Amino acid sequence: MKYIFITGGVVSSLGKGLTAGALGALLEAHGYGVILQKFDPYLNVDPGTMSPFQHGEVYVLDDGAETDLDLGHYERFTHSKLTRNNSISSGKIYSSVIKKERRGDYLGKTVQVIPHVTDEIKACFREGAGSCDIVITEIGGTVGDIESLPFLESMRQLALEEGKASVLFIHMTLVPYLRAAGEIKSKPSQQSVAKLREIGIQPDVLVCRTEVHLPRDIRQKLSMFCNVEERSVIEEKDLELSIYELPGALHVEGLDSIVLSKLNLPNTPCDMSPWDNIIKKLKNPECGLKIGLIGKYNDLPDAYKSVNEALIHGGIANNCAVNVIAVDSEDIEKNGTVRLEEFDGILVPGGFGNRGIEGKIAAAKYAREKDVPYFGICLGMQTAAIEFVRNVAKFSDASSEEFCAGGSHVICMINSQKTIAEKGGTMRLGAYDCRLTEGSLAEKAYGAEVVRERHRHRYELNPAFESALTDNGLLISGRNPDTGLVEIIENPALTWFVAVQFHPEFLSKPMKPHPLFADFVKAAKENKRH
Ligand code: GLN
Repeated sequence: MKYIFITGGVVSSLGKGLTAGALGALLEAHGYGVILQKFDPYLNVDPGTMSPFQHGEVYVLDDGAETDLDLGHYERFTHSKLTRNNSISSGKIYSSVIKKERRGDYLGKTVQVIPHVTDEIKACFREGAGSCDIVITEIGGTVGDIESLPFLESMRQLALEEGKASVLFIHMTLVPYLRAAGEIKSKPSQQSVAKLREIGIQPDVLVCRTEVHLPRDIRQKLSMFCNVEERSVIEEKDLELSIYELPGALHVEGLDSIVLSKLNLPNTPCDMSPWDNIIKKLKNPECGLKIGLIGKYNDLPDAYKSVNEALIHGGIANNCAVNVIAVDSEDIEKNGTVRLEEFDGILVPGGFGNRGIEGKIAAAKYAREKDVPYFGICLGMQTAAIEFVRNVAKFSDASSEEFCAGGSHVICMINSQKTIAEKGGTMRLGAYDCRLTEGSLAEKAYGAEVVRERHRHRYELNPAFESALTDNGLLISGRNPDTGLVEIIENPALTWFVAVQFHPEFLSKPMKPHPLFADFVKAAKENKRH
């Protein structure tokens, strides 16, 4: 087993997750089995209870783990199958240490950060690795933060235990270009590496985020002051077109060969053709599409990360450039649906709480009445169902139990949710089967009878309102085979109106666009032609 750790310095948001994912992709292109994991310094047990404004999207795994959105990058860039063991926070570590202390596992000892917390972290480093060849572990936060110290100390200890040939430290920093002075600055990187060295970690590779190309003299300076070989100073310049250019860009910089040589692994041939094909397609689209994303966390684009990516994948499948335009659903409430006229397709993504709901319902109504391709996801399915029951089945008080206590609850909490007292980790989470209806758009898209999709919601379509939907022409095209719960609805009277209770965006990859996203984009492309 070989361990690669990626830390970040100088500032946050350097794109460590993307770099980890892209390195994973490169190592897979060499034929190695890779797994990725993220260790986050915050004290929440997982990001499931955090607002998207705090943390961006919550990414859900097959096993129902609510994780950091970087795990989405890992799954999109590689084939690694991730589990809850690959998403660890300080909160998870501490709660497990405290549980052990209460059980008496520490046999009377004083429980301390070193060795008890660091032992727990090292055990998690190893457990998450499973049986792959190489595990890439990203440490969240920025070097110098108080909270990330136990993780860094554990990395140092692991290298001592496993031997330096099995453990590689990659440090990512910002190398700023000061426009006014016309200079590229190496000092922040030096200082951040100095912080790492203070605790006994000498980075093997320095990945430098930069706006401009790094000339030789800057690379030499970084090399000397940071004590990193010159060939291991890797430039990661801002990408022009797409994040999917990153594996290719890092390959040109030689990151994969350096990592393999430092880990004493054979530098096997590297097949970059699948990535090259993706870039070729992204560079030469047949046409451009505008998709309206009707959300409410629009100030933070990361809140809909996987949906945005899945739409781009849908574009790759249809040779078109998808321009995702965020519309605040509260704007629709204030100004009506005129804003929606420019779109070739409308997508209403997941969400929680009352705010902006009426705007989402208005968007579904607009799409139904104007026959604009509509894709509803989770809350976007619930609002489409409410709209239909309100305006077609004529239940004027149709709503969801989540938003108002009274009225006709088209969307409701089923019994198993009603007894739940704790909010964290208790929604319907993770992968469930869904049986598709023959001849439906969903079945056509998937080309399968039963599919498995990831969930993250507390409320469901109320069985008591199914007939209000179906008697008025809506088709229930997917159901959970075990519980009978409704998973997909579609409107056969329209060109493409499909809404799903699950989150298909979590299973879409650039190399394997999700069938529903591919067909939604196809319908939007055809709509554009008319
Ligand atoms: N708020 C809704 C529920 O809990 C939808 C959740 C979602 O869109 N992820 O059921």
